[in-house]
Order: sequence, then structure tokens, then C-alpha cells
Amino acid sequence: MRIRKNLLCVLLCACLLLPALGERGEVIIEQNLQEMDSDLPLKGKKIGIDPGHQLHADSTKEPIAPGSSETKARVAGGTRGVSTGKPEHVTNLEVALLLKELLEELGAEVLMTRETADVNVSNMERALMMNEWGADAVLRLHCNGNNVQSVHGMGMYIRKTGQAAEESERLARCLLNCMSRRTGAKAQGIYKRDTYTGLNWSTVPCVLVEMGYMTNPDEDKKLNDPLYQEQIVLGIAEALIDYFETPE
Ligand SMILES: [Zn+2]
Repeated sequence: MRIRKNLLCVLLCACLLLPALGERGEVIIEQNLQEMDSDLPLKGKKIGIDPGHQLHADSTKEPIAPGSSETKARVAGGTRGVSTGKPEHVTNLEVALLLKELLEELGAEVLMTRETADVNVSNMERALMMNEWGADAVLRLHCNGNNVQSVHGMGMYIRKTGQAAEESERLARCLLNCMSRRTGAKAQGIYKRDTYTGLNWSTVPCVLVEMGYMTNPDEDKKLNDPLYQEQIVLGIAEALIDYFETPE
């Protein structure tokens, strides 16, 4: 499925072109997309997408950070939808593929850590893949879980210190603002952690996006609704445009 063109128009109108275009906006945007490829808002940007988890967890250990003797499972199992019964890795990949399509429409170059379920790529390997590629920004897409079913909302997880920590925080702020506005989800906040292998090994701006709780019955249904997923990826795209347009 290709992202519908009108979705793209909505995005571009909302964040870039609306004031200047008025009623003829959609027509002009069509022309823009066809004729003015170089003006696409994410042209030249390299965006990494890491759909969290995979079909089978891998409990084999790997170092939690460069030079660290502490280890953690290569890939954890992830959560599961209480309403839908879907495993988290499936939802993460659905949103990731939708996001890839939209970001490419907006001119970005996209690298995915996985495009299918049955892979075995560790969190460290996913981070190294993005470092080597030289990503301008990396989004690690996850859904959250909690023993308390009423807990809901989206949160951004970033590294505490080290390379690209400040840029990651700025990206996380853009993501939390744009995504919660788009989806109406509760903005939980930005959390700095030194316990995530995939963040510790990253040398580029990197945010682990917890899109919502699959242990909350309503949020689980939303996270697996194609229309809500579209709002999630539009929010992410808006955040990236915001992030790249207003460098510190
Ligand atoms: Zn997860």
C-alpha cells in the first residue's frame, strides 16, 4: 500500500505550506511533488528505522555498552496486545513500514534494521548498523507494557550522556510534541536511561519511541488501527521536519 497522496498533502499543508497556498494548496503540492523534488522537506536526510524486537527473542548476552562488562539479552521478547493478542514486534513493523513509505515520499533515504519478522539482529548490531550508515536520526519503534492496565500514553527514551545525547534530546522533544498532538495520546515524557543497549551503542541522534501501551485495552486497539498508525507516522514526519529545520 502506498501512502495516500492526500495524507501527504495534509502533512505538508499543516507544517509547511498552508499559509502561502490557500485553497489551491493541494494542486500546488501535487506539482511540488512531481516537479520540485529537491524541495522535499526531508531531501538528503538519512533516517534509520528500527522496528523493535523480532519473531523469536534471543537470550544470548551481549555487552550493554562499549567497553562494559555488563551484559544483556541480544533481543528481548517484547509485549503483547491485551485486546488484539498481537505480539509487539508485529505492530512495530507495521508502523515502521508505513513510516518508511512516508519518509521516502518526503525525500528521505531510509534504512531499516529489519523488514520481516523472522530475523536475528541484536540491539547492539542494530545500533552499529546505523552508526556505520551515518544516519542523521534513528527511530527505534516500540510499544510499551505495564502490569497496570490503566497506564497509557507515549514516551521517549534517550541515552543519558555521551555522543549525540543533546541532539537525541532535541529530537525526542520534537517527537513527543508532534506525535501526541497528532494522535491525542497522553505525552508521558522524555526519559534518560543508561540501561538500553541499543541507545548506549548509538553514536548518532537516536530515540526509542514507546508509541503506547499494548497492555491498555483501548490503546492496544488504537495502536493496531491503520488510521491511528497513519497519525503516528504523520506525527513522526512532522517531528523530523521540525528537528532538521531548526538546528540548535
Ligand atoms: Zn519493545
